[in-house]
Amino acid sequence: MKYAQHFLSRSAADSHLLPHSQFNRVSSDVPSSSWMRDRRILKRLCVFCGSNSGHRAIYRDPASALGRLVAERGIELVYGGGHVGLMGALADAALAANGRVIGVMPQSLIDREVGHGGLSEMRIVGSMHERKALMVELADGFIALPGGYGTLDEFCEVLTWAQLGIHTKPCGILNVNGYYDALLALFERTVDEGFLKAIHSDMIVVESDPAALLGPGESAGGGGFEMDHARS
Ligand code: AMP
Repeated sequence: MKYAQHFLSRSAADSHLLPHSQFNRVSSDVPSSSWMRDRRILKRLCVFCGSNSGHRAIYRDPASALGRLVAERGIELVYGGGHVGLMGALADAALAANGRVIGVMPQSLIDREVGHGGLSEMRIVGSMHERKALMVELADGFIALPGGYGTLDEFCEVLTWAQLGIHTKPCGILNVNGYYDALLALFERTVDEGFLKAIHSDMIVVESDPAALLGPGESAGGGGFEMDHARS
């Protein structure tokens, strides 16, 4: 089975959220290659990642590297707004590289004092559901770094919405230290056992290196998201 091929460049101005009236337009007939053909400039990237750092430093460094790279390419970062764990490392690195970082956080988490105090913008929402909806609306593409339930929930939701045709934004995994190998194997099993179409597993872009995941950069003010890697 092939994991995906290109993490595409997409435009914030060109919304890829479909109206709710199209919710039932299941995208099973959309070839995964349409993700590759449909190249646009990436303006805003949403990253889901752990509110913990993991036991080993190998997880923190790639989070920082991704934050820095995104900022250097002039891509705005959208994330959960926390100052803790990999979230904090990601945001701090982007800010240190003069990047623009937008946090999206429910008031309940702000009240628990886990909000990052130095972001370019903090969007406060009423619930975790609203948070995910706003993150999907704001961003042109999504990347999951290592994390726990929250990260898995957020990433699987954007995959589900892509599968349903609610959006057509690219979804990538930064597979640091093979962290997601077991999940990717499970996704393969879901295809083998008939619970997921291969076309929908193929839409996930998987790389272990932040620069490889973003692909070659284009001109300032955009990200060149192009990858041409296939795993089997
Ligand atoms: P987890 O992977 O369980 O650590 O959850 C991380 C993801 O869930 C992030 O992408 C956040 O959007 C959200 N999240 C969970 N816990 C927190 C927290 N303490 N502060 C901010 N966001 C959190």
